[in-house]
Amino acid sequence: MYDVAIIGAGVTGASIARELSRYNLKVIILERENDVSCGTSKANSAIIHAGYDAKENTLMARFNLEGNPMFDNICNELDVPFKRTGSLVIAFDEEQLSHLQILYQRGLNNNIKGMKIISEDELKAKEPAINRNVKGALFASTAGIIDPMLLTISLMESAVINGADYLLNFEVQSIEKQENIFRITGPGKIIEASWIINAAGVYADKVHNMISKPEFKILPRRGQYFLLDKTEGKIVNSVLFPCPGKMGKGTLVTPTVHGNLILGPSSDNLEDPEDLATTEKMLNLARSGAIKLVPSINTGRSIRNFAGMRAVSDTGDFFIKEADDTPRFIDVSGIKSPGLTAAPAIAVYVIELLKDKGLNLKKRTNFNPFVKRNIFMELPSAEQKHLLKRNPLYGRIICRCENITEGDILDSIHRPVGAKTLDGVKRRCRPGMGRCQGGFCSPLVQEILARELNVPVKDIVLEKKHSYILTNKTK
Ligand SMILES: Cc1cc2nc3c(=O)[nH]c(=O)nc-3n(C[C@H](O)[C@H](O)[C@H](O)COP(=O)(O)OP(=O)(O)OC[C@H]3O[C@@H](n4cnc5c(N)ncnc54)[C@H](O)[C@@H]3O)c2cc1C
Repeated sequence: MYDVAIIGAGVTGASIARELSRYNLKVIILERENDVSCGTSKANSAIIHAGYDAKENTLMARFNLEGNPMFDNICNELDVPFKRTGSLVIAFDEEQLSHLQILYQRGLNNNIKGMKIISEDELKAKEPAINRNVKGALFASTAGIIDPMLLTISLMESAVINGADYLLNFEVQSIEKQENIFRITGPGKIIEASWIINAAGVYADKVHNMISKPEFKILPRRGQYFLLDKTEGKIVNSVLFPCPGKMGKGTLVTPTVHGNLILGPSSDNLEDPEDLATTEKMLNLARSGAIKLVPSINTGRSIRNFAGMRAVSDTGDFFIKEADDTPRFIDVSGIKSPGLTAAPAIAVYVIELLKDKGLNLKKRTNFNPFVKRNIFMELPSAEQKHLLKRNPLYGRIICRCENITEGDILDSIHRPVGAKTLDGVKRRCRPGMGRCQGGFCSPLVQEILARELNVPVKDIVLEKKHSYILTNKTK
């Protein structure tokens, strides 16, 4: 019997799990996929937004403001790469210049510090590759870039190190409540808990409707991207946005924390939240939007296209509250952008909400805030020597694009929330993230996974449950 069951191991559920693990509580995270960070949290722009974009007096504005400054400390504790690059919203004409004033004023209303409108010349000095036809920009110094997958994985690791349990491959299928105890049914098991946090992303409305009358609807909205090789990663210094339109912030151009360049996202409303296909039409729109900002981008250097699904609530804001007719069932849903930025602040708010609603919270004295992870080739040589002595497999390079050793891969498999799939290893230590996209290292990583997990090599999947890579021997 658990005190709290969290449904969904994205950045929202993982942030709440970590925050709850500071208290003497029995907590479990239930995730339908075979790894954490497999939903929206794995495919987004990876921006920690400054906060001028969200409408005044919304939960989005509040938690963006509160979440942004929390990242220095969290990323330091969890060893997650994060850089405050600043962001620029670019204006090309008088109308857009006046829109910058609206954004600036909204930023002031939202209490955002570190913003200013900069001139064409200042903009060109900051971003030498910018389109020569620009007229000015809104600069926001507090914006940053992060690795959202590693953030989510590390938040989960931190929760687990501090006593939380988790179940993967556990798709919540139904929920009943008997005498104040929730019975949560998934494949082959029933989990009992006194409280439920619904952080199920694009499926949050379905999970809500399992136990409560409908209160909101999630409208899936897809965004498609280009990921460019590291040769393009230095073409811009900060996050560049066009002036926003009806469908959101528009196509951005940004460096990633690992030195690549991302262009995107496009925006299209869909019925099917699973439809993460990329399409020629939308990628072309993303490409032309990016090239308008930075004409010299070489999209021929694209190494991957991918898509993410926004969980847009029909309420127009994050939807975070106890269900009207079901005490102790808390929805944390409609967490669209700036959800990544807001996640740590949402987690703190949810703790307060739980306290208000009657959950008895007593702090643990032995909470350990730290998660440590190493990439061998990024370590100082003294530490490398030490690691090599402990395990000579740190001397065997498996991914030549990203310089990842077998020791790094073993670490990612045997960590508290270890990898079990090819993409799981990739998200934790990056073999397959480079220019060849796993062309050379994937078979090796697959063999290492099979050996370490003691399963046949053909049981190792790429990502989702049935994404088999090998089926039978040919020779
Ligand atoms: C294109 C795009 C760009 C974005 N860019 C940014 C950005 O730059 N900055 C920013 O701040 N935000 C951004 N966002 C928003 C941000 O990515 C999301 O707000 C955040 O990832 C949402 O996290 P989540 O945990 O709520 O959802 P998810 O990450 O989707 O997690 C929900 C989890 O619930 C699981 N689940 C669902 N149903 C069940 C069930 N029945 N049983 C068990 N588990 C279940 C899913 O498998 C999933 O793992 C962007 C989003 C998109 C799509």
